[in-house]
Amino acid sequence: MAFSNVQFEPNLCSDPNIQIAYPITETEWKLEKNVLREFECPVCVNYANPPIMMCLNSHIICIDCWKKCQVCPTCRAPKTFTRAFVMEKLHSLINFPCKWEGCSYLGTGIKTNMHEMLCNFFPVRCPLGDCHSCSWAGNMGTIMGHLTSSHNRNFIHANHVVLKSKLFAISRKKDYTVIFKYKGSLFKFYWNFNLAIDSKVRFGMIAIGNGNPIVMFSYSLMFAKRFPISNDCRKLRIMKTQVKKNPADCSVIDRSLPGNSRRPIFYNFEINYDDLLAFCERSLDLKYQVSIEYSHLTNVWS
Ligand SMILES: [Zn+2]
Ligand SMILES: [Zn+2]
Ligand SMILES: [Zn+2]
Ligand SMILES: [Zn+2]
Repeated sequence: MAFSNVQFEPNLCSDPNIQIAYPITETEWKLEKNVLREFECPVCVNYANPPIMMCLNSHIICIDCWKKCQVCPTCRAPKTFTRAFVMEKLHSLINFPCKWEGCSYLGTGIKTNMHEMLCNFFPVRCPLGDCHSCSWAGNMGTIMGHLTSSHNRNFIHANHVVLKSKLFAISRKKDYTVIFKYKGSLFKFYWNFNLAIDSKVRFGMIAIGNGNPIVMFSYSLMFAKRFPISNDCRKLRIMKTQVKKNPADCSVIDRSLPGNSRRPIFYNFEINYDDLLAFCERSLDLKYQVSIEYSHLTNVWS
């Protein structure tokens, strides 16, 4: 766990990037560090968050590892459904450091859990890595700079655009990925088809990184022969869904997966290639509109 860069009173750091939930003295922190060790899950070595499970002999284990274990990893006692209520109570009283590398945030359990979801140090890979052979890896604080300097053509600062896929009607295989920035959040929109495999065109959108845990976004795709849509538009297809968070996102660095393996790609929609041909222009291009909308606030505690 990263302890080295935690800042203390009275020298509270003036750097606006360093956030401290409330002042803590070095002596208090030394004490709390000893208590914190008791929260380390013996399997994943992360700090256990409530619900914290324990065995007959009071050894604790985090809920994720508890689900996978059959016996206590410390003493091999049979698995129980007993919760460590004292630890859970302590979790809300003592300070935990943010788990992301480079971050100096320190706050009580629930505050740190919340902070970690929004933290700029959340590690990410380049979301265009697969399609643009880019091996960049960094965090949510540096991704914007990377996208601007390296992928400006595939980085859209808008939530409502009409895009064009050239020569769609005579292509056998295509894939496209673009990044949207809207209301401070980043979204990866992608689609592809390969007629040699099947006739489906698959579309997906995901929030990059952890996504904002408080705000929900939805997105829609609209296909029409002509944009902007006019009243006499005879054929139109609109699809709308919520943007997924904590998704099966290949841009998130997932430490639970071995080596460089990625999670499978997630899609929202599947449309037959032939159905989309009906929207192609005489030029054989396909135009479609992508809109991202702010949908509603979620209750983060539920
Ligand atoms: Zn664990
Ligand atoms: Zn045990
Ligand atoms: Zn952090
Ligand atoms: Zn990149």
